[in-house]
Amino acid sequence: MKIPAAPSPPTPPEEAAGSAGPPAERLPEPVLEVTGLTKRYGDVEALGGFTLSVAPGEIVGLVGHNGAGKTTFVEIVSGLVRADGGTVRVVGHDPHSARHMVGVAPQHLALYPSFTVREHLKLFGGLSGLRRGALHEAVDEVAADLRLTEFLDRPAGFLSGGQQRRAQAGTALIHRPALLLLDEPTAGADPETRQALLDTVRRRAEAGAAVVYTTHYLAELTELGATLAVAKRGRVVARGTAADLLTGLPGEVRLTFEDGTEDRRSTADPTGALVEMLAGAGRPVASVDVHKPDLDDLYRSLAVLDDD
Ligand code: ATP
Repeated sequence: MKIPAAPSPPTPPEEAAGSAGPPAERLPEPVLEVTGLTKRYGDVEALGGFTLSVAPGEIVGLVGHNGAGKTTFVEIVSGLVRADGGTVRVVGHDPHSARHMVGVAPQHLALYPSFTVREHLKLFGGLSGLRRGALHEAVDEVAADLRLTEFLDRPAGFLSGGQQRRAQAGTALIHRPALLLLDEPTAGADPETRQALLDTVRRRAEAGAAVVYTTHYLAELTELGATLAVAKRGRVVARGTAADLLTGLPGEVRLTFEDGTEDRRSTADPTGALVEMLAGAGRPVASVDVHKPDLDDLYRSLAVLDDD
């Protein structure tokens, strides 16, 4: 499976001016480099050799069934939970000394009900070293991006669920971190909240941030132009673009006829199958349903990797 080439770093002046032939192609240093992470909770193996690397400007969609280890991975990289084994490097540093370079939006909302949105943003920005003018500018910018401006002075406890989601994301984004860890940031969000979050995440990646985005929604990852990392039983078992991973998986075409009968076909070429089925239908068609491969189909195709 291919991973698309990461954006090239700017050419250093001495290389650009050199005359020793074409410059060697260099990939940028990964912002996040995780190798062989292990973590047990009693009898449960949450991570069993989790390896993942994320380049600057790359959005990685971390997907997988419930319990695959996504949140445990996010918690370890955030420095909240200690791994049993393996290594984590954030811009070459260990997670504890790199905390100011990381922005985390945890899966479960963690806001102070009596603090306003502005107080949250100032608190998190201040903890990361932003002061005075720079802090005020960052608060205004992130509030505008996340459509929170009109709620800045409202206590978090008086916000709707979607507004709280955006405020939570704001605390992750306020200091423009090199690495963003967003754990199901759109869970329970309405379309407007989802769009504000997706637009903001995409712009941050375009500006060079590395993003790990866990979700159960393939459509969000397609919209973000994310590469996928599929977690299963505490390991990344597949990595690549959605096109790489989903092409060739069978979809389903279903014709429902006016007499109430159905014709279904499982196929890797839904368009070809649809044309063929319509040509051979021989009676009036009431509706056509084309199911393209989705994450569930991908997980099923990876079931062959089960070792029990
Ligand atoms: P989801 O999609 O449901 O959020 P996930 O991929 O994020 O799932 P994790 O929350 O990382 O999965 O959990 C991985 C495994 O570790 C699960 O079997 C879970 O029950 C277990 N686990 C996670 N945290 C703890 C904990 N604090 N104590 C005991 N077991 C835990």
